[in-house]
Amino acid sequence: MSSASSNWPKWLPLRETLRELTPYGAPQLDVAVKLNTNENPFPPPLPLVAALEARFAEVITGLNRYPDRDAVALRSKLAVFLNGLSATHLTKESIWAANGSNEILQSIFLACKAPALGFLPSYSVHPLIARTAGTKWIAGERNEDFSLNISYAVEKIKEVVPSLVFITTPNNPTGTSLTIAQIEELALAAKGVAALLVVDEAYAEFSQQISAITLLDKYPNIVVSRTMSKAFAFAGVRLGYAVANPAFIAAMMIVRLPYHLSSLTQAAAETALDMSDLLLGNIHEIKTARDQLVQDLLALNLRVVPSDSNFILFSGFTHTAGDLWQLLVDRGVLLRDVALPGFLRVTVGSPAENRRFIAELRGCLAEKGI
Ligand SMILES: *Cc1c(COP(=O)(O)O)cnc(C)c1O
Repeated sequence: MSSASSNWPKWLPLRETLRELTPYGAPQLDVAVKLNTNENPFPPPLPLVAALEARFAEVITGLNRYPDRDAVALRSKLAVFLNGLSATHLTKESIWAANGSNEILQSIFLACKAPALGFLPSYSVHPLIARTAGTKWIAGERNEDFSLNISYAVEKIKEVVPSLVFITTPNNPTGTSLTIAQIEELALAAKGVAALLVVDEAYAEFSQQISAITLLDKYPNIVVSRTMSKAFAFAGVRLGYAVANPAFIAAMMIVRLPYHLSSLTQAAAETALDMSDLLLGNIHEIKTARDQLVQDLLALNLRVVPSDSNFILFSGFTHTAGDLWQLLVDRGVLLRDVALPGFLRVTVGSPAENRRFIAELRGCLAEKGI
C-alpha cells in the first residue's frame, strides 16, 4: 500500500480521481501454502488437460483470424450449464462473457449512470472500478455480524436513488449470503427508483441459497455476475459472465472492446463447460474441508463468521491482523488481510494445506501465549 497521491509525477496528466488510488494488490508471494485469493486448490483433472490440448491444437491453426466477437458458442454453453444448475430456461441472449467477472463489472460501470450504492464490507473491487470509471460510489453499511439489514438497505436505496445497487452473495470477505426472498426485496426497491440490482455471485456454486438468475423473468432490472474462477477451478483462464435481461446484454455489446475475448479463452471455457460435472466435482470436498477448518479454528478458541462459501473470516486473536498475517507469511502460509481490524480471511485449501495452516496458526498463537 504505497504510492500516495503526491508520488505521481506532475507531468503525468492523470485524471484527478485516479491520483488518490493504489492498484488492486492482493500480494502474490512465493510461499508454500497460498490461501489468500479464494481459488480452488485442485488443479485441472487429467481428462480436461487432454481435452484442452486437443482443442488448442485445432484453434491455434486459426489464430491469424479474429475470434468470434459475440462468443456465440460459449454463451450458448453457459446457458445450458446454468439451466442445469438452476432449472432456468436461459438462452445466449441473456448471457454475456468477458475476461473474468471483473471485466463484467467494469463494463456495467461503463454502460450505466451514476451513482452506485453498495453495502460494506464487501468486494473491494466494486468501489475501485467505480472510481476508475468516474462513477460516484456511495457506501451503505452491514450489521456488526456482517449480515445485511434488508429494511435499512431498502430505505437507503430510496434515499440515495442510485442507478446501480451492488450486492455480493455469498459476500466476500465475510462469507455470509442472502436468501432469494431478501434479494427479491432489494430488486423491488431498486425497480422503484429505476436502478439495476447487480448481484455478484462469484461463489454461487458453493452456496446453499437459490441463485438470483431464477428471478430474472420477474425482475428485468437484475444483473447477475458470475465467474469460472472460483468453484470452477479455472482462475487462470479469466472467464466471467453476466446473466441478465437481453436489453442489458445488448448494452454490453456497445461498451465491450472489439474481439475482447480471445479464441483461446473461448475454446478453453467451452471445453471446460463440456466437462462441468468433472470440474465442479470437488465442491463437496471443499465444503467438507471448510467445515473441518471451522471446527479447527473454534478448537483454537477463535471466532468464525458462518461461511456459505470456500473461505472463512475469523477473529479472536490478540495480535493485530497485520502482525498475525506477517507471522504466518514467515511460516509459509499466505492469508488475506482484508482491512477489517481483528479479522483475517482464509481460503479453504486442500486437506494438507489446511492442516499446515492450522499447525502454523497454533504456533503463532502459542508464541503470544494464548
Ligand atoms: C474473485 C471475485 C470476483 C472476480 O472474479 P474474476 O472472474 O476472476 O474476475 C468477483 N467478485 C467477487 C466477489 C470475487 O470474490
